[in-house]
Amino acid sequence: ADGNGAAATRRKVAIVGAGLVGSLAALNFARMGHEVQLYEYREDIRQAQLVQGRSINLALSQRGRKALAAVGLEQQVLATAIPMRGRMLHNVKGRTSIVLYDPCNNQCLYSVGRKQLNELLLNACDAFPNIQCHFEHKLISANIREARMQFKLGTERQAEEQLISVAADLIVGCDGAFSALRQQLVRQPGFNYSQEYIGTGYLELCIPAKDNEFQMPPNYLHIWPRDSFMMIALPNQDKSFTVTLSMPFELFGQLQTQQQLLDFFRTHYVDALPLIGEQQLIKDFFKSRPQHLMSVKCKPYHYMDKALILGDAAHAMVPYYGQGMNAGMEDLTLLSSILNQELPLDVALEQFTESRWQDAHAICDLAMYNYVEMRDLTKRWSFRCRKWLDTTLFRFFPNHWVPLYNSVSFTSMPYSQCIANRQWQDQLLGKVLSGTIVLSSLLAAGAIYVRRFR
Ligand code: FAD
Repeated sequence: ADGNGAAATRRKVAIVGAGLVGSLAALNFARMGHEVQLYEYREDIRQAQLVQGRSINLALSQRGRKALAAVGLEQQVLATAIPMRGRMLHNVKGRTSIVLYDPCNNQCLYSVGRKQLNELLLNACDAFPNIQCHFEHKLISANIREARMQFKLGTERQAEEQLISVAADLIVGCDGAFSALRQQLVRQPGFNYSQEYIGTGYLELCIPAKDNEFQMPPNYLHIWPRDSFMMIALPNQDKSFTVTLSMPFELFGQLQTQQQLLDFFRTHYVDALPLIGEQQLIKDFFKSRPQHLMSVKCKPYHYMDKALILGDAAHAMVPYYGQGMNAGMEDLTLLSSILNQELPLDVALEQFTESRWQDAHAICDLAMYNYVEMRDLTKRWSFRCRKWLDTTLFRFFPNHWVPLYNSVSFTSMPYSQCIANRQWQDQLLGKVLSGTIVLSSLLAAGAIYVRRFR
C-alpha cells in the first residue's frame, strides 16, 4: 500500500451523529486504524430515560446483518431480535391471513429495538482506544474545504451557549435526514439535491403485553391495510408491539375528539382496539402530533477528501420498505471495501459516490412504491396471485427468479438491479399472459368455426 492510500494513512476522522449509522461508521474507521472522534447532539442514549424521536423498533434484514457481521456484532444483535417470518394481514372484520416472506428458504426479517441496537454499537465503540465519543455536541457549522467544524455544547435546556471549534482530516456526516453537514454540501457547485415530503404522517401507539405474553402472534409483521391509510405493528422484546398508524394528515385532522377516535378505530381497526385499550389509545393518540416523513436524494456524497455523508444524511427515505437503516449500514460495507483498495482518499470517495448513488436513489423510489403495496395492494387478489406465482417460480428457479421483496430484503443485490430484475420479470409475465390470451382466443375461435361448418 502506498502512503497516500485511503486506509493506510492514519487519519483524524470526525463522525457527526452517533445514531445507528454513525456508531457503525466509527467502528469501521477505528478498525482501519484511524483516530475517530464521534460527535452526537443528544445525551448518551445509554443514560437517557426517554429517547425522543423515531420508531422504537426496526426491521433488520440482510444488508444490515452483513454490515453488523463485518464488525463482529451480527450474532449479538440477532440473539435478542425477534424473527418475523411474514406479513400477518388484518382485514376490517378482524380476520387475519398470513403471507410468508420466503416459504422456500424461510428467510425472515428481525425486529430490533432502536435503543438496544444503538447502545450495543456504542458499547462496542467504547472497546476501541482510538474512538472518543462526545455527547451533547451539536454541529452548527462546518468549513468543508478545511474540514473544520463548530459545535454547540450542552443540551438545548442550558441557557449558556458554549461553542468549540474542531479540525479533522475527514468529516463524515451521519447526522440523519436533516443533516447539518449536508447543508454545507448543498452550497457546493455541482451538488444535486431534492427532498420530498409525503402527505402522510405517522404516529406510534402500543399494544402492551398481557399476563407477560404477546397479545398477537409475535413472529409476524402485522399489517392493517386500508387503501389510503394503514397500521403496522412490530414485536418488542418486552412482549409488547409498537404500532405505527400512517394516514394522510387530513385524516388525522378529522380525529379531534375522543369519540371520533374510538369510532374510527371501531370501524377500521376493530380487532386492534381492545388490544391497545380504549383509554391507552386516547392517551397515546392525543399526546403527540403525527410526524412528517420525507425522502431525500442527492449526489455527490463527498467533497474532495474532506467530507462525506452516509445513511439518512445521504438518502433519507419513507420507512415503508424497512430499508433506511439497512441501506445506511450497507453504505459502510461498500465504503470499507473501497477504502481497503488503498486508493488516494479523494479517488476512493469519488468511487463511493459513483458506486452508490443509483442504488440509493432506487431504494428511495422502492420505499415510496412499497407504501402503496402495504396499504392497498396487499389485500388485493391480484397481489396475492402475483405473490403465489413469484413464490412458485422462485421455488423452481431459485437462482433466476428472485421476487422483488426477497431481492431487496434477503440479498445484497444492488437496489437498482432489484428494480431491473422486477421489470424483466414483469415483461416476461406480460408476454406469457398475452400469449396465453391469444392462444386461448385462437383455440376458442377454432372450436366455434369447426362446430358451425362441420
Ligand atoms: P439517525 O438515526 O437519524 O441518526 C442521526 C444521529 O445524528 C442522531 O443520533 C442525531 O441526534 C444526530 N444528529 C443530528 N443532527 C446532529 C448535529 N447537528 N450534530 C450532531 N449530531 C447530530 N429502517 C430500517 O432499516 N428498518 C425499519 O424497519 C425502519 N423503520 C422505520 C420506521 C420509522 C417510523 C422511521 C421514521 C424510520 C424507519 N427506518 C427503518 C429508517 C431508519 O430509522 C433510519 O434510516 C436510520 O435511523 C438512519 O440512521 P442514521 O444513523 O443515518 O440517522
